[in-house]
Amino acid sequence: MKIWFLVLMFAMGAVMGSFLSCQAWRLRYKEQGKKKLGKRSVCLKCGKQLKWYDNIPIVSWLMLGGKCRACKKPIGASEIVIELLCGLGFLGYGSTIELSNMSALAWVIFGFMVLLILSLGFLAIYDARWRELPQAVLIFAVICAIIIAILKQWSLISIVGFSWGPIFNLMGAVAILGVTYLVLYLLSKGQWVGDGDWILGVALGLALGDSWLALILLFLANFIGLVVMLPKKQKKIAFGPFLVVAFMIVITFADLTIGFLAGKVW
Ligand SMILES: [Zn+2]
Repeated sequence: MKIWFLVLMFAMGAVMGSFLSCQAWRLRYKEQGKKKLGKRSVCLKCGKQLKWYDNIPIVSWLMLGGKCRACKKPIGASEIVIELLCGLGFLGYGSTIELSNMSALAWVIFGFMVLLILSLGFLAIYDARWRELPQAVLIFAVICAIIIAILKQWSLISIVGFSWGPIFNLMGAVAILGVTYLVLYLLSKGQWVGDGDWILGVALGLALGDSWLALILLFLANFIGLVVMLPKKQKKIAFGPFLVVAFMIVITFADLTIGFLAGKVW
């Protein structure tokens, strides 16, 4: 059983969610030229340092009832939502790993996927809070995705030999996710989607490497975005979080979907 691995992945995801949320605040404060946050975590309302036992992802939030121990002001629901989503994201990706069947190359791809997911998590949090995708992190995500795409193609070639099929499949995925958002951005002159969304799309397309999965991701992201944002009547939508959530769902259920498509469509 690999249940211990899944528990570990969920816990790691929740810890990382807490860490990324905190790093997003740090970067925001830095970019806004506000005074730096110290090394230790503090309450954003009263500035009091958090004790280690108030800093445990999910558990502490629930124990404190979502309020700071010192000033009793609300910490905000977003913190526990981020920790839960990151936990679930890691759990979902972890469930696709066949521990007994991992080559050295597969572990390297796993490592870069974790790095990619971390940068995506950061981008989603930052975009949801301030409707902006920090460029440095975006570039880091693209670099991770390029490495993942190359390693996946390499591993495929080493198993079944070279053919153009997988390469066109990869290029299609990049086009579907990158070009769609680039066109939306250009058509609306940045009114509907931001200038970072299409770069994020390119990264996701590279990491997926499959045109069908890219189409499903596109549909899912817009569907989730519509359901969440429709009641809010905002003109400009921060698409980042929806793209990232859709990406995590698609990679979790990729085998299932490809099996389904292989059976029904082809
Ligand atoms: Zn406080």
